[in-house]
Amino acid sequence: MRAALLERAGVVETSIIEVPPLDADQVLIEVSAVGVCGSDVHYFEHGRVGPFVVEAPIILGHELSGTIVDVGAAVDRRRIGERVAVEPQRPCRVCTQCKAGRYNLCPDMEFFATPPINGAFCEFVAIQSDFAHAVPDTVSDEAAALIEPLSVAIWACQRAQVGVGSRVLVAGAGPIGVIVAQTARAFGASEVIVTDVDAQRRAFALEHGATVVLDPAHDDVSTLGVDAFVDASGVPSAVIAGIEAVRPAGIAMLVGLGHEMMALPVSAIQSREIWVSGVFRYANTWPTGIELVASGRVNLDALVSGRFGLDEVDRALSVGREPGQMKVVVHPWKGWNAART
Ligand SMILES: [Zn+2]
Ligand SMILES: [Zn+2]
Repeated sequence: MRAALLERAGVVETSIIEVPPLDADQVLIEVSAVGVCGSDVHYFEHGRVGPFVVEAPIILGHELSGTIVDVGAAVDRRRIGERVAVEPQRPCRVCTQCKAGRYNLCPDMEFFATPPINGAFCEFVAIQSDFAHAVPDTVSDEAAALIEPLSVAIWACQRAQVGVGSRVLVAGAGPIGVIVAQTARAFGASEVIVTDVDAQRRAFALEHGATVVLDPAHDDVSTLGVDAFVDASGVPSAVIAGIEAVRPAGIAMLVGLGHEMMALPVSAIQSREIWVSGVFRYANTWPTGIELVASGRVNLDALVSGRFGLDEVDRALSVGREPGQMKVVVHPWKGWNAART
């Protein structure tokens, strides 16, 4: 099959490699669409993300949808032909964290596009059958792929206890911030305030989930008294202002990446007993994600701003930095040339 391999930082080459072999409990998926994630861009630019270093050529891409074209010996053959959204991880299923239902925290996790595990910028991938989630035909290939970032948003909103009537502050109007805003609304939040320094991104967020948008360069958010704060920016000043904006006993969820260490407003956290935690991927979110998209309460198709073929993966990994781009998608079986729809 054809695969786009990251050889080293900044260099992607299309090669012919073996189709992955199937374990008995796995299905083979012909990949339809793969979203480009910030972590893919980080691997492309720096050859590493935190402790994970690219030491051998690796296939990036972990936000994907496709069609089941073959099954392992233990899987029902009637699944062949199913359109699926792929949950791109393989937990051990037997450790303490897995048994507690927090399989995202499994120390033996094999996660797509995290060295040395290959991802999905290629024609076929293998995944355990229960992590290939069937999607209805009303969900597009691209939306089915983007159920992966939606899952991050669902996990963040669940952990932040967003519910009916919640007031939520979201820092950052990139793809994750916008999807968090939509998800918070779908969970029943009555007010979703999104901050971003970029006016174009604020305008987009206001059309897709935010009830209010603010510019952190001019507007003070620290007195908002929200029930929950979700950081999707990774910017230290936004994290500090966001935690200060939380009401007593409210919750702050740190999703945005970029800083190993950061100063926090400790006296606000102590005097208001604010819960501060992080989000690491997700567990058991795909059924909810598929339902949110199929019912129209979350619109992922609107986020797609660029489409590329497998030979253009290096461009797909670079173009997201350009103004006006939101979510870039790779279609391994199609020769897209247009950077914009
Ligand atoms: Zn991602
Ligand atoms: Zn485990």
